[in-house]
Amino acid sequence: MFISVEGIDGCGKTTQIKLLAEYLSQLDVEFIIVREPGGTKAGEEIRDILLHKEYHLFSESELLLFMAARAQIVREVIRPELEKGKTVIADRFMDSSVAYQGVGRRLGREIVQAMNAFAVGGTVPDITFYIDVPTDVAISRMRKEKKNDKIEMENFDFFERVREGYEKLMVENRERFVRIDGKQSEEKVQTDIRKSLRVLFHK
Ligand code: C5P
Ligand code: MG
Repeated sequence: MFISVEGIDGCGKTTQIKLLAEYLSQLDVEFIIVREPGGTKAGEEIRDILLHKEYHLFSESELLLFMAARAQIVREVIRPELEKGKTVIADRFMDSSVAYQGVGRRLGREIVQAMNAFAVGGTVPDITFYIDVPTDVAISRMRKEKKNDKIEMENFDFFERVREGYEKLMVENRERFVRIDGKQSEEKVQTDIRKSLRVLFHK
């Protein structure tokens, strides 16, 4: 089973993935957690380029680098693990590129979706948890935790566009998207995620 977790910065993805990992261990489900870019040697090198500070990367270049890392991790890690029967949890995957670069950075949804199709070659999540929080809630959480320096650059309007991107994806991919109300407590968010998964794992 291939699970992806999506949402804007500050939605609580990382916390929820930790709790989800505990749950899968309890169920004796074998799983791995992946995060792009990275998880492969090539992906780690791509991450270094994306995180560098010495030069300006244009959004188009950023998108292509994310895609290259994705193409690599799909073939080197995700597909082989799924074929072995393992569950793969992705902390962001193809939908992030559509929402962040396609809509947030205005590169265009269609082009990003076409690139995604090429990069993943059919390896699409079975279920995508979209943790939905209003932009003001996400921003105030990030400020409180001082987690993201990018917050000064990436303003309210940017995250509003990213959310619109996710909304469209949700409508177009109802068969795999599960919207989770991220305004709720951590415990309640996790309960909702587990409820959806219990059905899929027949537990
Ligand atoms: O929330 P997370 O820790 O996964 O965020 C990683 C960072 O990478 C975020 O600040 C997000 O804005 C950025 N990102 C991006 N485009 C993507 C995926 C992540 O700009 N496709
Ligand atoms: Mg995070």
